[in-house]
Amino acid sequence: MVLDDLGSSLRGTLDTLRGKSRISEEDVEEVVKEIQRSLLQADVDVSLVMDLSDRIKERSLDEEPPKGTTARDHVLRIVYEELVDLVGESTDIPLEEQTILLAGLQGSGKTTSAAKMAWWFSKKGLRPAVIQTDTFRPGAYDQAKEMCRRAEVEFYGDPDCDDPVQIAREGLEATSDAEVHIVDTAGRHALEDDLISEIEEIDRTVDPDRSLLVLDAAIGQGAKDQASQFDESIGIDGVVITKLDGTAKGGGALTAVDQTDSSIGFLGTGEEVKDIERFEPESFISRLLGMGDLKQLTERVERAMEETGDEEDDWDPEDMLKGEFTLKDMQKQLEAMNNMGPLDQIMDMIPGMGGGIKDQLPDDAMDVTQDRMRRFEIIMDSMTEKEMENPRGVGQTQVERIARGSGCAEEEVRELLQQHKMMERTLKQFQGGMDGDMQRMMKK
Ligand code: GDP
Repeated sequence: MVLDDLGSSLRGTLDTLRGKSRISEEDVEEVVKEIQRSLLQADVDVSLVMDLSDRIKERSLDEEPPKGTTARDHVLRIVYEELVDLVGESTDIPLEEQTILLAGLQGSGKTTSAAKMAWWFSKKGLRPAVIQTDTFRPGAYDQAKEMCRRAEVEFYGDPDCDDPVQIAREGLEATSDAEVHIVDTAGRHALEDDLISEIEEIDRTVDPDRSLLVLDAAIGQGAKDQASQFDESIGIDGVVITKLDGTAKGGGALTAVDQTDSSIGFLGTGEEVKDIERFEPESFISRLLGMGDLKQLTERVERAMEETGDEEDDWDPEDMLKGEFTLKDMQKQLEAMNNMGPLDQIMDMIPGMGGGIKDQLPDDAMDVTQDRMRRFEIIMDSMTEKEMENPRGVGQTQVERIARGSGCAEEEVRELLQQHKMMERTLKQFQGGMDGDMQRMMKK
């Protein structure tokens, strides 16, 4: 993930401030050095880093910490606010009819992002269509078509036509029923004149409501030139940063966004259509700092629940966080996980979980494979309501009965109970790990 080690190194440094109520210049110096090191390593522009660290230094020493706040939380809050300010606001993308044009170099992730964004809009209740105008890259048509099939969204392309402007025009007509049109364009290995004139012509034909530049998180300092050139030719309203799931540094893209006065609209976090997030500065930075992100978590869980088709159920992940964790919760969670992705990724979004706690867990605490999940489901079907509510009360005779009823081995029934205990303990640990000031800060 972008700026990956900022969170852990910063937490370490901030921990040295624990218990202190006054903060010295040396303390702040230490924190700022950590931030500088991480940001520079992540390819953020030097002058940007220097400005940011000056502000953090100044504010930490000048501003009086509110009563009852520790020195650590005082500095953490300032770092948080300054980083949120650095990444800027999210690009305004209203949920209404619109046409979006995607620009960017070849391989930046345009085609993938087009399908992902269409999927995202469809989940928000709008009818999207992707129009593929990339006639330059062999395979672009098939790739886009296949991704749109997976995203279950409308697709238009014409493999027999080599005029992107004509495809764009015909595509808009052919998909006129759609509410959101996402027009994918060709890229090149570098910015060339013919790429620019082609995209300008598509821009005139399509007359988009917003144009988004797709940037690979690994791009480094070259991002700025790209952003300015595309901005000059078609006007860039926002940026999509892709491949944040990899080892990419991301700082170059952040710098480009800052220096061109642009903003970030979406983040790409994987190769699948569902691996997209709307960029939200507060949650992005809280996650980066290891403060978790309840909002994203809730959104994901809601979406997953919707897809599980269990709308009547008012299962609330926050209840789970409060510690009432029954086998029913576990069943819901196992169902939801199918649609949400691996639990350890989800845990990164829970406040306090991103950091040390997760590392202390046994590896298999979170490892519930699809096969095991199915076996668990069968076993749970043979359990009574009471047993589901209070799995700790399940004794040997019940284990035998459940095993017989479900046609599973007793060992498997015990394994399920064990898994439940482990997950319950994990949540308890998490509750212990979250500190009060941090909770208040998240609620702000
Ligand atoms: P285009 O040439 O700009 O249309 O780029 P593509 O959409 O074809 O993406 C180039 C490669 O990057 C493909 O192999 C994609 O699967 C991959 N890719 C795109 N977005 C992401 C992402 O967010 N994460 C990961 N891991 N891979 C991505």
